[in-house]
Amino acid sequence: MSTASPSTHVIRLDDYAPLLGAPEISQLRALASRLQGRTMQMVNSTAMGGGVAEILNRVVPILEELGLSVKWDVITGGNDFWEITKAFHNALHGGPYDMPPESFEIFLAYNEQNRARMQFEAEFILVHDPQPVALIKARHDHSGHWLWRCHIDLSQPNPEVWKFLEPYVSRYDGAVFSSPAFARQLPIPQYLSYPSIDPLSEKNRDLEPEFVRGVLERFNIDPQRTILTQISRFDRLKDPVGVVRAYQIVKRYFDCQLVLAGGGATDDPEGEAVLQEVHQVAGNDQDIHLLNLPPWSAIEINALQRGSTIIIQKSLREGFGLTVSEGLWKKKPMVASAVGGIPTQVIHRHTGLLAHSVEGTAYQVRFLLSNPALAQRLGEQGHEHVREHFLITSQVRRHLTACLHLKNKG
Ligand code: UDP
Repeated sequence: MSTASPSTHVIRLDDYAPLLGAPEISQLRALASRLQGRTMQMVNSTAMGGGVAEILNRVVPILEELGLSVKWDVITGGNDFWEITKAFHNALHGGPYDMPPESFEIFLAYNEQNRARMQFEAEFILVHDPQPVALIKARHDHSGHWLWRCHIDLSQPNPEVWKFLEPYVSRYDGAVFSSPAFARQLPIPQYLSYPSIDPLSEKNRDLEPEFVRGVLERFNIDPQRTILTQISRFDRLKDPVGVVRAYQIVKRYFDCQLVLAGGGATDDPEGEAVLQEVHQVAGNDQDIHLLNLPPWSAIEINALQRGSTIIIQKSLREGFGLTVSEGLWKKKPMVASAVGGIPTQVIHRHTGLLAHSVEGTAYQVRFLLSNPALAQRLGEQGHEHVREHFLITSQVRRHLTACLHLKNKG
């Protein structure tokens, strides 16, 4: 059901049946029946902002409804820790690592601090991404199954950073990657689990057109004119400056507006500086809307995506890129970079268009603006592709399967 205001309805598994079919839900229940009452602990580095928090906010309640007892812990750290882990993140995506040698010791000291204050009593412990990876030191002979859930593309990591992290990763019982191409040679079993979106969350549920229009007008965006949008944290790897440059090319041929919307994440210290860079390139173009949104903006992001003519995701590197599935789910034509997990979602000329540069992005946007019927078809096919592969229930199924596999291995 679509409504115009924030929903207070608690989402239950059965609510997914009209979208996915009742058999899908019964299968999940059947799988989970073998894990009734089992305990699971999720550990990550932020409760809000970015894709991991987005997913955990929905996966945890669904696993609980399925009868598991799930605890979600967020590690803490000082600014020095977040600067180091952001540098790790960029380096693991293949960039240089410019931090001083003692950064590794600082990283370990914060992991140790968190280890000392946390408890690890669950049967299945899922540690997300590199920030908390060294918590594995808390593992002892009688502790549960430890899985490292990596959301980053590790296909070409900076060797210095990977050499430091690899011994910790290798101590886990298994590693979970978002794409077969992201994995590394490791002495532990590896699992594949695509990230996913929740079609019923505030971020993705249907909205009334009047509500969408109201949100656009609140941000001074003209609903009658073409809108190009990228939703992303202000992060250099999301290339917001490149998006502005692509828009500037398109603007020579088409009247259009650009929306760049994104807030920060508590574990990402670079946002403010990147936003300043974008302001400089945008100049005083009144058709560029740079929206620095607070973390509780799910329904506004939903409306901005729904109100867009074309959605762009011009990342230079990407883990999976949940914003791509979010846009496709809303049947939007998508122009996105062929990096990380994006080509899994955007199949060129079938569910969207891929690009490799500022000029390529501008070219594909112009192509779609000139071919509205094709744009519409790509959006519709994109929606079906997401329904089939990237909805939250598929991810829950993969979590359950990995846990059963570990349990049966003993
Ligand atoms: N997001 C948000 N607010 C923002 C920017 C992004 O809620 O200001 C959401 C976005 O809708 C998506 C997630 O954060 O659900 C970003 O996930 P993605 O995998 O695209 O990128 P990440 O930030 O994890 O690199």
